[in-house]
Amino acid sequence: MKQTDFLVIGSGIAGLTYALKVANQFPDKKVLVMTKAAADETNTKYAQGGIAVVNDMENDSFEKHIDDTLIAGDGLCNEKVVEIVVKEGPERVKEIIEWGARFDKEKDGDYKLGREGGHSEFRILHHKDVTGREMERVLIDAVAKQTNIEFIKHCFVVDIITQHHLGYLVTKATPDIECYGVYVLNLETNKIEKILSRITLLASGGNGQVYRTTTNPSIATGDGVAMLYRAKGRIENMEFIQFHPTALYEAGMRGQAFLITEAVRGDGGILRNKNGEAFMEKYDPRKDLAPRDIVARAIDSEMKRTGTEHVWLDCRHFGKEKFVEHFPNIYEKCLSVGIDIAKHMIPVAPAAHYSCGGIKTDEWGRSSINNLYVCGECASTGLHGANRLASNSLLEAMVFAHRCYLDSVEWLSKNNGSADARSSLAKLIPDWKAEGTTEPKEMILITQSLKELQQVMSDYVGIVRNDIRLQRALRRLDLLWEETEHLYQTSSLSPQLLELRNMITVGYLIVKGAAFRKESRGLHYNTDYPGKSPLVQNIVL
Ligand SMILES: Cc1cc2nc3c(=O)[nH]c(=O)nc-3n(C[C@H](O)[C@H](O)[C@H](O)COP(=O)(O)OP(=O)(O)OC[C@H]3O[C@@H](n4cnc5c(N)ncnc54)[C@H](O)[C@@H]3O)c2cc1C
Repeated sequence: MKQTDFLVIGSGIAGLTYALKVANQFPDKKVLVMTKAAADETNTKYAQGGIAVVNDMENDSFEKHIDDTLIAGDGLCNEKVVEIVVKEGPERVKEIIEWGARFDKEKDGDYKLGREGGHSEFRILHHKDVTGREMERVLIDAVAKQTNIEFIKHCFVVDIITQHHLGYLVTKATPDIECYGVYVLNLETNKIEKILSRITLLASGGNGQVYRTTTNPSIATGDGVAMLYRAKGRIENMEFIQFHPTALYEAGMRGQAFLITEAVRGDGGILRNKNGEAFMEKYDPRKDLAPRDIVARAIDSEMKRTGTEHVWLDCRHFGKEKFVEHFPNIYEKCLSVGIDIAKHMIPVAPAAHYSCGGIKTDEWGRSSINNLYVCGECASTGLHGANRLASNSLLEAMVFAHRCYLDSVEWLSKNNGSADARSSLAKLIPDWKAEGTTEPKEMILITQSLKELQQVMSDYVGIVRNDIRLQRALRRLDLLWEETEHLYQTSSLSPQLLELRNMITVGYLIVKGAAFRKESRGLHYNTDYPGKSPLVQNIVL
């Protein structure tokens, strides 16, 4: 058993930013960062386009960024949170620049500002087309220098410890559910360990792997959301899954697909259908720079209409030099699969990209469970509402990591005496019970269920939904749930089984949210209810 002052689950931008801040503020306290994979294997590392922030006060303003965010969010943003994120953003970006992040500059030394769908101004800071990799690099370097941070990799957090583990009945109605720490599966020893913490921050990222194709890496299995749901915390607006319109299409696509950032369309890339027609003007006056949900639905509709598995992104008019200067990584990737962007169009199709809903938090990142902060993609802070404005998520993660840190400082100043009470409590928290379980006999039971889940979610709960598809999805998820629960109760635990179990829970929450929402709003489009309901509500499960 380990005990720590701060436990941080996740080593993406949200987790590492928070860890650095608390470690720096409290040099005498222990900060434990855990990740189930390698240190930098995160959604953060794959972010390409950049970070949206108001820089150019002459042409841009906070009001414009706020308006763009609210328009994308389609009536469901929390306006106070939008204002907080937009106005506190520049300070947080300044901080990461001071820590060493390099954003591209013009020859005169001003930052090069990009523009993406839904933004009325040029305001995206970026590092070539690998912005996330640059930010993750800076954060990992800074964490390595902080002597009071212990960074444990390849440790899978299984469950949040609450009063339930002390034998009390805990339900959604229980007031003051407490987080005491977590159970983790140490992937090196294959043993389940107990970790107790005074404050826990959950920053476990997104859940794109629930779908057949996604821009997210394999870690994005929604573990944090599933854990919190099991611990009887509040989850909100899970139906709002953003599909990125332009993932690189490769035959037989499954799992992580390479993203072609929206910034390519921002720089003039044109979507064309099978017949070479630039089709976006049929769907929206903003054409290729319409918000992502509109572009993704337009592509979906063109693919269905023309019977193809992808459309084309035409960048041939850029010229090689201009393209390579801004998008070297995309250029190389395309070349590696035989596409020379100067001569060929790029085949693209939509893929699951970002989860706008998640664990409900207040404006300080507090979840409905005491001592448990949540930030980054697994949180639902109210910023994105029904649809995320491009490049707002890295910003949100940094602003909320800071707010969680500020609130943690205050919490500690009020609860300084509670450490002893926790140590005596630690003795009461039972070890994980693994008796009676055996090695799963066949991995196919897990891998096939995962394929089924991803197929069901993509076919019935994708870009366009309707009631019959949602009911079918629910019935199939019920069966998968039953079979997987049986495996879970009888098998020794493996990351594959734990992830499958979590993904089925996340799939269920997405379908439930979608079924409750009797309207089409933002990213949720149901052909049985094509209009918006006058009842503007968040769906909390
Ligand atoms: C291809 C791509 C491009 C993107 N481009 C942009 C962009 O240009 N601008 C923008 O703003 N956003 C972009 N995004 C979104 C943005 O990158 C993410 O929303 C953000 O990085 C999430 O950060 P995070 O810290 O919340 O989670 P992540 O960076 O995903 O980190 C999650 C961490 O949690 C760990 N973890 C998860 N489950 C467990 C568990 N059970 N036990 C232990 N550890 C666990 C993971 O191993 C990982 O370390 C993009 C995303 C993708 C995938």
